Amino acid sequence: MHHSLRLSLAILFFLPALSANAGDVKDTEVYARLKASLDAVPAIDTHSHLRGPSDIQRAIPRDPNSQRPLHSVLSWVWTRSYYTWAHPLPPWPKDDYFETWWTAAQKDFDNSRARSAYRSLLPIFSDLYGVDFETLTVEQAKELNARMEKNYVDPDWPEEVIVKRANVELMVIDSFIRPMQVRDHFPFTVSVCNVKWYINGFHPSEFKSGKGPDPYEFAKHHNLPVESLDDYVAVLDRIIAEAKKAGAVGLKSPIAYDRTLQFDWVPKERAEQAFGKPSSQLTPAQIKDFQDYIFWQTAVLAAKHDLPFQIHTGHALIPGSNPMNLVNVIQGNPRTKFVLFHGGFPWVGESGMIALKYPNVYLDSVWMPTLSYTMGKRAFKEWLDMFSSNRIMWGSDMATVEGTYGATVYARQCITEALAEKVVAKELREEDALRIGRQILRENALEVYPALRDRVKKSTDQ
Ligand SMILES: [Zn+2]
Repeated sequence: MHHSLRLSLAILFFLPALSANAGDVKDTEVYARLKASLDAVPAIDTHSHLRGPSDIQRAIPRDPNSQRPLHSVLSWVWTRSYYTWAHPLPPWPKDDYFETWWTAAQKDFDNSRARSAYRSLLPIFSDLYGVDFETLTVEQAKELNARMEKNYVDPDWPEEVIVKRANVELMVIDSFIRPMQVRDHFPFTVSVCNVKWYINGFHPSEFKSGKGPDPYEFAKHHNLPVESLDDYVAVLDRIIAEAKKAGAVGLKSPIAYDRTLQFDWVPKERAEQAFGKPSSQLTPAQIKDFQDYIFWQTAVLAAKHDLPFQIHTGHALIPGSNPMNLVNVIQGNPRTKFVLFHGGFPWVGESGMIALKYPNVYLDSVWMPTLSYTMGKRAFKEWLDMFSSNRIMWGSDMATVEGTYGATVYARQCITEALAEKVVAKELREEDALRIGRQILRENALEVYPALRDRVKKSTDQ
């Protein structure tokens, strides 16, 4: 009894020291030094959905008849972020009063206080507007919205926020559709060629909805025949060549939103069975054969044109988006640079294993800290345990100017925190942590996407 009491007292005595050790790494000097240095790195954001200058100012949806805006700028920044994915936020109210929306939104915000999709946007308000979003009164929120509305119509605001405040030198944009026909660009953006549309090219009728670019129209315009599957692949080859000429720095496939990432190697004769037939005359297995064949051909073309192949993995259609599904394609195309997006979230260990095994695989942490900061930090630490640090990148994955700011600050913090924890645990020297942070934020992108090198003016230490 006496003995165990003494033990308890001893534990009590040492508890403060223990909890100080287990405290927040962000309170350490190591973190402060790393943070200051890494914040100064002009970052390269490898994936964003930011629209061009004129699109941004038209972004808030309007009532088609009355032209009444269907959001305030503040409600739009939240609505157009990942906050609203599978999570409610009240729509803009019919009475058009900001107060009505704000009051209705409070319950949803309360249910989201711990979510990374919520917390990643808080730096917008603290850094750009000097307010604490979590304690705003309705009057203060209204005033904040008025200040945001003013910035929204200022043509210099995007560059001010993204280049000057977030210190991003270049952003790689997925405009979803035709990279060679994006009408306007910011000087700090470059494009990728989104290739998801082409895997359904077995018949021209697949493109009649007008949702995506039509390779048959492209072929007509360029006087290319499309009589056979070989012809069709030659058209894709030309599309990619033209996209590269127009400035595309890579290929992008978000196909995990539409189907499984399991792509069989299909002999040409089998894929040919679908070519030239509308989907009504095809079985699902024949369509999959065709899609699988084209995906493999796209991987071959990516290597041919020296364009990294960005592939959305994880999330999306959950069954089928596990990056493990891609192992056969990766193994079969050793000359193709595969950039696995979102680190395969939540299969971050699996994607780490794939990168460990295949040197032509790069992991892009884009979106990961916004989905789960904790898992993001864990992933950075595990990946650095597993494979070389020159194969990890980051991206903001946002569509609004302010959202980009929040996601960038949040990602920088997550990367810095992971590195600082390794230094504090004596698993990494501080100078190496700094160098690795620079690689992830900037230098790896320049190495993986050679075309970006012509576009940068700053240096890492600037
Ligand atoms: Zn995206």
